Amino acid sequence: MPPELKNLVLATLLFGSTAHALENAETITTRTHRLTEVRNEIYLAQSTAPVFNSNSLVIVNDRDVIVVDSHVTPSKAVDLIESVKAVTPKPITTLINSHHHWDHAHGNQVFKDIQIIGHEFTYTKLAGAPLIELAYQNGLKGNAATISRVEQAIKDAGSDEDRKQFETYLELFKEHVHDFDEIAPIPPNITLSDRMTLYRGDREIQILFLGRAHTGGDVVIYFPDDKLVYTGDMAFAGPSYMGDGYVDEWPDTLENLKQLEFDIFVPGHGDPITDLNRLDLAQAYYRDLWVKTVAKHAEGISATEAAQTIDMTNHTDIPIQKTGVDLTAVQRIYQRLEQPD
Ligand SMILES: [Zn+2]
Repeated sequence: MPPELKNLVLATLLFGSTAHALENAETITTRTHRLTEVRNEIYLAQSTAPVFNSNSLVIVNDRDVIVVDSHVTPSKAVDLIESVKAVTPKPITTLINSHHHWDHAHGNQVFKDIQIIGHEFTYTKLAGAPLIELAYQNGLKGNAATISRVEQAIKDAGSDEDRKQFETYLELFKEHVHDFDEIAPIPPNITLSDRMTLYRGDREIQILFLGRAHTGGDVVIYFPDDKLVYTGDMAFAGPSYMGDGYVDEWPDTLENLKQLEFDIFVPGHGDPITDLNRLDLAQAYYRDLWVKTVAKHAEGISATEAAQTIDMTNHTDIPIQKTGVDLTAVQRIYQRLEQPD
């Protein structure tokens, strides 16, 4: 059994999510979530279930609550809504989708009676055929792979204690996979193409499309007074998933992001980031990956071989430690070269 699996399972079973909250930030822990106040009643909501999920943002205003991103399944969205009640009795009036990916938007149906705001591209994707989207299909494959890895780990367990922990995890994970049967995606019911501003009391909330990046319709949620921005999956501490992204345009979009005045950003997965230099590192990575992949394509090298041989280990600060890149990233770049739009 791979030791990293054992570590993951044990860590998540014992400690919940492996993410760490901001130091000194107020944190509220519910049965299913940890809510960390990033700034001024703007909370990062992270599920503590040891399964893959996205971040959500919970914005408590003077009279209402706005949620950004609806989690991975309707069941996880219900848990999120329950957890918001531990923070405030104010009603959730608005959901914003940062982008269309399943892990951020497949809880949407639970919010069907309120306004759901997203980019036009997000609308098109979620109103189209979201259940056959590549990223979602990869997610389903990931679920199946996790089940077989944990089943194998049960067989190979060195002690009764280990076996019991793996069995407990398998039961929990299968329950989570069962929740996927309930997914019936719904799109936003309010769309934007470039920008929209919500005013809530003294709070100004800007929803901005800064260009194509992780998808064709990423929006960031910007709080100018709090110098905070929620970036979804467009900006991480390093490279993000590129399987349906725009690696050629991504650095420019990040450049646009850098023009905003902020000193902390909350990514779509993981913890808030104050080291804004991470954005420069990501830009350099995408630019370099694009050049290296274009060269492989020009030489007629297959995507599979290119994915194994492209060397990004010069990006030591990210850090990239071994040769090779994600195959879906290379396939996507090849697709962009062959069918530009
Ligand atoms: Zn995504």
